[in-house]
Amino acid sequence: MIRMLLRVLGDEYAKPMRRTVALMTVTAVLEGLLYALLLPVLRALFGDTPSDAWPWLIAFGVSVAVYAVLRYVSDLSGMRVGTTMLRGMYHGLGEHLARLPIGWYNAARVGEVSVMASRGLLAAMGVSAHLLGPFISACVTPLTIVAVITVFNWQLGLAALVAAPLVVLTQRWTARLMAANDADNAARNNEASARVIEYLQAQPVLRAGGRSGERFGLLDDALQGVERASRRQTMSVLPGAVGLTVIVQAVFTTVLVLGTYLALDGDLGAAEVLSILVLAARSADPLLSLSDIGGKLRTARAELDRLDKVLRTEPLPEADQPVRPQRFDLEFDAVTFRHGDRTVFDEVSLSVPQGQRLAVVGPSGAGKSTLLQLIARFYDAESGAVRVGGVDVRQIDPAVLMAQIAIVFQDVYLFDGTIEENVRLGRPDASDAEVRAAATAARLDEVVERLPGGWAANVGEGGASLSGGERQRVSIARALLKDAPIVLLDEVTSALDPVNEAAVHDGIERLMAGRTVVMVAHRMRTVQRADRVVFIDDGQLAEEGSHDELLRRGGRYADFWSLSMVSGASE
Ligand code: ATP
Repeated sequence: MIRMLLRVLGDEYAKPMRRTVALMTVTAVLEGLLYALLLPVLRALFGDTPSDAWPWLIAFGVSVAVYAVLRYVSDLSGMRVGTTMLRGMYHGLGEHLARLPIGWYNAARVGEVSVMASRGLLAAMGVSAHLLGPFISACVTPLTIVAVITVFNWQLGLAALVAAPLVVLTQRWTARLMAANDADNAARNNEASARVIEYLQAQPVLRAGGRSGERFGLLDDALQGVERASRRQTMSVLPGAVGLTVIVQAVFTTVLVLGTYLALDGDLGAAEVLSILVLAARSADPLLSLSDIGGKLRTARAELDRLDKVLRTEPLPEADQPVRPQRFDLEFDAVTFRHGDRTVFDEVSLSVPQGQRLAVVGPSGAGKSTLLQLIARFYDAESGAVRVGGVDVRQIDPAVLMAQIAIVFQDVYLFDGTIEENVRLGRPDASDAEVRAAATAARLDEVVERLPGGWAANVGEGGASLSGGERQRVSIARALLKDAPIVLLDEVTSALDPVNEAAVHDGIERLMAGRTVVMVAHRMRTVQRADRVVFIDDGQLAEEGSHDELLRRGGRYADFWSLSMVSGASE
């Protein structure tokens, strides 16, 4: 368990963790020895001179004081290590998630990670902060007491020691029962979380489609699944808990019977038997608590297993000696890429000279967005290479690559914060004047003036308090502020009404000026701004040329536009 914790967290926690474990072990041994002092106390009290008990009682008092200090220090150390670990785990998980390929994220993963980041990490922290001390005490204190009993009488010590293998066996048995149910329980919890997120996020769609009842049914099923799995998991602990109680009672009874027999036989005094029974009774309590602590530890271990699995998911490989591109032309060199079984690109080659604009056109699902994602290295090509300034994107430090690229998506996500904070995300160290200039260029100033609170107005989670067009302006301002040499635009204006489109038009023009641009386009006006157009379909570049050339050619692209004209998308 400790090994697993350290593997998940890294070696820097090894030293404080070992220190804490050592401190807790010493405290537990002292607790056992403390009870052992009862023996001479009782022996003196039952003997001819009861006042002989005083020195032992003083020793008992001093030991209690030392024990109290040690207990405080070891509990504090456990707490400290636990909270430091929690911080470490949050950072480790956060940094790792940020490096995982975008393709890793799907609805099920979102549920899994949200459960892990809340319940899972807290459970893992609880190992050191709340569980480790009681667990060590529950194992070490009874063993110390048994050792003391053995010193006084080996027969009784041996009888008490029989409990040890039996307790280990029941704990293992419970662990197996729990493990079988735990995976099912976790899967159902993740599914329920994903369903809750889906149900809440998709409310507008569900209501518009009149399907909320149906989706609620799915959510309800998932929640019932969680309830059933939790019940099964609770039941799986029961045999272990009952087994442990029976073992402890049976061993105590054996010690009692054997002690009485030895006392009657004259081998042992009544005071010794009484003391040993008190000691045996004291070791029963921590032993019985093992079932509860063991259950919690096993749950925490299962959470750690899941965390470990996520942390072991390989991020996209990074170059040992990264190369910084000096130019900003783009190139696809015989790129093949698949989404599962679906071949999105089959040996596609294309290039965009620095400072030029390429429009990407094609039917829905042809791979237009994927083409942008490959440039930004959200995924790696299966074969071939995507190059920026002649350098394979796999050879560029991911942070350097992202610094060279500004991306504007059709669906804009804004963080819960002010408009200014959302724009500043483009370049956190920008001056106020630069942020204002970018906002003005994206015509965001008009929006800010209208909003109560202006720049300090909160946009709500996901930018919920702004319209689609307003969100788009924030996103363009963000990209303008970033001032990156490569600009990727993914159907930026296709969902905007004419007023909003006209408003963001100037901002987009400024964003594209003098930069290498790849834009996925559905509108004639956008495509006409490009130097070159590629029409992609069926994993291939079907046609390539300028807008006018392709229209004259009368091929797929021309057909596409005549269809678009009919549907009005080319406005
Ligand atoms: P649209 O114009 O409708 O936005 P597109 O041309 O941009 O479509 P892409 O989004 O690039 O198309 O998708 C290309 C193909 O890859 C589609 O068949 C799509 O179903 C598939 N695809 C996209 N993303 C994923 C994913 N995360 N997992 C599996 N398949 C995916």
